[in-house]
Amino acid sequence: MQRKRVLVCGAGGFIGGHLAKRLKKEGYWVRGADIKEYEYAESAADEFLLGDLTDTATAKTALNGVGEVYQLAADMGGAGYLFTGENDAAVMHNSAMINLNILEQGCRAGVERFFFSSSACVYPEYNQLDPDNPNCSEESVYPADPDSDYGWEKIFGERLYFAYMRNFNVAVRVARFHNVFGPEGTWRGGKEKAPAAICRKVAEAPDGGEIEIWGDGKQTRSFLIVEECLEGMRRLMDSEWPGPVNIGSEEMVTINRLAEIIIDISGKKLGIKHISGPLGVRGRCSDNRLIREKLGWVPTRLLRDGLETTYEWISKQVEKANAPDRHYERANILTHGHK
Ligand code: NAD
Repeated sequence: MQRKRVLVCGAGGFIGGHLAKRLKKEGYWVRGADIKEYEYAESAADEFLLGDLTDTATAKTALNGVGEVYQLAADMGGAGYLFTGENDAAVMHNSAMINLNILEQGCRAGVERFFFSSSACVYPEYNQLDPDNPNCSEESVYPADPDSDYGWEKIFGERLYFAYMRNFNVAVRVARFHNVFGPEGTWRGGKEKAPAAICRKVAEAPDGGEIEIWGDGKQTRSFLIVEECLEGMRRLMDSEWPGPVNIGSEEMVTINRLAEIIIDISGKKLGIKHISGPLGVRGRCSDNRLIREKLGWVPTRLLRDGLETTYEWISKQVEKANAPDRHYERANILTHGHK
């Protein structure tokens, strides 16, 4: 099997779309697979299979002839999607089915190496109650008590990949991403996460106005620019160590601080209004001791640096969405709809 032929599951999504681009630049032949096309640009993949990976036959087709798989496909979103409870069954069913199919069919097809994107959401809620001192070291995941079914499904996923590694002698690499953000990610529609949502709110707000933030804004997180996430993934995939390992930033900020930085980048004067909304844990930050030790690398780019490029991209999307010709388009669609 040729090592240079790679499948990216979830290539129509944010990280998968960026990964396809990076792998192409590195000289890989890339097949992307996703239930939707890459939304904001043309996919860099050599081949793109538009299909549902919960379907075994589709997964089999996607896996045909590849030596490595990056499994990023998942039913996921930000707090507004994952923490309301309304999507739990879909999140667990869809993501588990994708992983079951990819591993079983992948092993049968002769895939040699699998990357699985787990999440910081696996960490127990009891270690993330203090916003100033969350514990997200890799071994602290057990005894398990994630605060969402999304986190429980990721724990199942991790265990599934390691079970196949032990029983089928395939290489497996597992990373736990911490809040990855950047241009060409979901920025509206309910599945967007905090950095994109706040960039959109700031871009849409008139100067002198205000933006809404869920909760008191004192909850803490760390955010990782997508390029650093890709760097960590590629280093882990090429290493001889399976993980699981955190891929995240150690620059922890409150959500209020995140909003202040974005407002500052925009150059506007805006107030912050706190409203109730789904929140997740009180504090969370990547612990990078293990990645430093095992891979000799940690992300170093500053949050503000990543937010500048992300804000620039999202404010362009907002502008495009509000452009007069879009109103015209929308009016046309409505007219047709009423006929
Ligand atoms: P994303 O939602 O942009 O990408 C996931 C992709 O999976 C989407 O394009 C979606 O259409 C696709 N998908 C869902 N169901 C599918 C199906 N049945 N068949 C085929 N494709 C399907 O999310 P992302 O931010 O790019 O995240 C990629 C991976 O990283 C996910 O597994 C996610 O759980 C994990 N992760 C992301 C973050 C983050 O902050 N972005 C944090 C932790 C973990």
